[in-house]
Amino acid sequence: MAEFAYFTGPMDCGKSTLALQLDYTHSAGGRKGRLFTSHDRAGTATISSRLGLARPAVEVDAEFDFWAFAVDHLTGGERIDFVVCDETQFYTAEQIDQLARLVDELEIDVFAFGILTDFQTRLFPASQRLVELSDRIELLQVRSLCWCGARATHNARTIDGQMVVEGEQVMVGDTAGPGEEAAVIAYEVLCRRHHRRRITRALAQAFRAEPLPVERRVDGGDGD
Ligand SMILES: [Zn+2]
Repeated sequence: MAEFAYFTGPMDCGKSTLALQLDYTHSAGGRKGRLFTSHDRAGTATISSRLGLARPAVEVDAEFDFWAFAVDHLTGGERIDFVVCDETQFYTAEQIDQLARLVDELEIDVFAFGILTDFQTRLFPASQRLVELSDRIELLQVRSLCWCGARATHNARTIDGQMVVEGEQVMVGDTAGPGEEAAVIAYEVLCRRHHRRRITRALAQAFRAEPLPVERRVDGGDGD
């Protein structure tokens, strides 16, 4: 029986690396797979990992239809045993329903990889749908640490170095209009405590460079 598996965790937990490894393992076993991604860090239509591996993939935009894609290719005489879907947080909830249909009606294994929550700690719509529909959820072990040394579990968005908690749910790369200066949008993983307090690595370092008044009092106290 085909399976719908969802592998999730915060940014930088090795999802894309695992996606490529899973594709390799299944392909080596003689199975035919298809790769999909959306807004990958290497540009469109590639699944790439921080370890430097990359494979071509089909780019999933809002109009993409997994069901139509699969039916087209199967009736064209191709075989599809499994699909690997990366960056699923950028898919629509409807596309997750289409993936469930591939599993149930076409016996295609679906392996989905993506971030669970956004920079405001809310579930992405597609991530919520994956939690609701998948047969199995694997929470990937957090490999990255917050600047304080605790496990980095939450995604923070910074604009020109400042952590923000308002804005569009999906924002990648350059958002400048013509004639505007581009703001630098970046993401950083933090522990929940520092996400709540909005203390990024850069801010923590700035605090450290300038001793806090309370530290000065302690250090410079008379002592006797
Ligand atoms: Zn922390």
